[in-house]
Amino acid sequence: MGCTVGGVGLTICTTMGCNFDCPYCFENHKAGKMSAEVQDDVVALAERMLDAAQRKALSVTWFGGEPLLAPDVIEALSAGKTEPEAHLYPL
Ligand code: SF4
Repeated sequence: MGCTVGGVGLTICTTMGCNFDCPYCFENHKAGKMSAEVQDDVVALAERMLDAAQRKALSVTWFGGEPLLAPDVIEALSAGKTEPEAHLYPL
């Protein structure tokens, strides 16, 4: 996480699972995905980060594993806006 020029940046790991088998990979491909509880915490964290930085723009980098193996998490977090002007933009 960190500040970008126009807002706040957050890297979110939706799952450590991956459907590739890159020979150089060092990740432990645990099955599963981010829980609903953690999703709520991520939205709350994003809200606090935006408040602290006094920004309304949040830039998200989806990370994994393969983050697109958990599209429901991406959709849920992207819908987790806390103000009309504050959105979590997918990719
Ligand atoms: S996590 Fe990344 S590096 Fe590892 S197997 Fe998947 S795509 Fe390849």
